[in-house]
Amino acid sequence: MMELADRAARQESEVRSYCRSFPTIFEKAKGSYLYDHTGKRYIDFFSGAGAINYGHNNDRMRQALIAYIQADGITHSLDMATTAKRKFMDRFEASILAPRGLDFKMQFTGPGGTNAIETALKIARLTTGRSHIAAFTNGYHGLTLGALALTSNAHYRNEAFIDRSNASFLPFDGYLGRDVDTIAYIRKLIEDRGSGFDLPAAFLVETIQAEGGINVAGTGWLQSLDALCHEFGILLIIDDIQVGCGRTGTFFSFERTGIHPDIVVLSKSISGFGLPMSVVLMRPELDQWKPGEETATFRGHNLSFVTAVEAICYWESDDFARGIQTREDVITRRFKELAQSQPAFDLKIRGKGLIHGVEISDPDKARAVSREAFSQGLVIELCGPMNNVLKLLPPLVIEASDLEEGLDILVRSIQSVLLDGAR
Ligand SMILES: *Cc1c(COP(=O)(O)O)cnc(C)c1O
Repeated sequence: MMELADRAARQESEVRSYCRSFPTIFEKAKGSYLYDHTGKRYIDFFSGAGAINYGHNNDRMRQALIAYIQADGITHSLDMATTAKRKFMDRFEASILAPRGLDFKMQFTGPGGTNAIETALKIARLTTGRSHIAAFTNGYHGLTLGALALTSNAHYRNEAFIDRSNASFLPFDGYLGRDVDTIAYIRKLIEDRGSGFDLPAAFLVETIQAEGGINVAGTGWLQSLDALCHEFGILLIIDDIQVGCGRTGTFFSFERTGIHPDIVVLSKSISGFGLPMSVVLMRPELDQWKPGEETATFRGHNLSFVTAVEAICYWESDDFARGIQTREDVITRRFKELAQSQPAFDLKIRGKGLIHGVEISDPDKARAVSREAFSQGLVIELCGPMNNVLKLLPPLVIEASDLEEGLDILVRSIQSVLLDGAR
């Protein structure tokens, strides 16, 4: 293991990160399992930060991809019309948008989530003629300059390269305590001519802040934010990159609220297979681009379209959503048992669907739990501004027995670290 770290230290930039959290060489993956070069099996409670919602090497996606390549289907085509893209757009419209009463046009952007955020920001600025965008405390939207300007975590905001580009931050739901209505504060900022707060082109928000520590926005809060947008002509951009594509139990994370965002950004699990793909969904009136005014070499990659169509199939019956609910019930039950049996641990647990966070007040202990879990065969990452929230993000298709086994390891690891510390 030492040799591995030494070689990485020589060859790869210091910026490397997940290979430090999970110090082994991964070789294979199937479903909810990762295997390293020694053949050791790990249960994956990380799912590529939400890029592997349908499991690793998902059989139907893999078969469709192999068949497509074997038939010499086109791989790269910029944004030319292709059969693969046509199939994706038709299926996405018929099986995802139409049943939800959503009328959106699609814009394929460069492959990363941050590329799509940049595009969403441009659309908001282009169509409103205003440049100010307001995001929220503890939000994460990517690290290219425009997106980084709206990402709040100090860890990423180096004064030497940050470009503020008319961004501001507002308190997310609960930021000032459960009793403070942050929407009332935002309304005051907008209405008061002495606030110094310029009318934003858009609010950029996650319905559940994933990197920010699994902070769940209340339904009422999101509805009030939506109403504020309508009242003042501000666009609502939902960053559904991590918590969309089924993570919270519905395809879009905002379905529980009935709100109608103007722009929605999807990436991570939209291709379903872990292939890079991003899309910006926008109300048709917002599509004011001139042809070619925004472009990228790798936008709408055909291999991603092929697997994305297979991912959509999961949403064509209610069984899939029901399966997520069943798995969520298991997680909730296990955490309730843990909280009851060990009240002294004072764990703060929150989440929705198959994204849950366990906050441990001491960041060193949180890191120790993640390390202990890894040694016992569970991959689980940390999040939050203090990096002290264990983030449960299993594949949405995880078998019940694997979910229980992963939770067993997690509970054992929490107990061994926190009981050890208490002694
Ligand atoms: C991952 C993520 C991004 C950035 O996506 P990249 O592909 O890493 O650029 C933006 N917003 C949210 C909510 C994310 O989880």
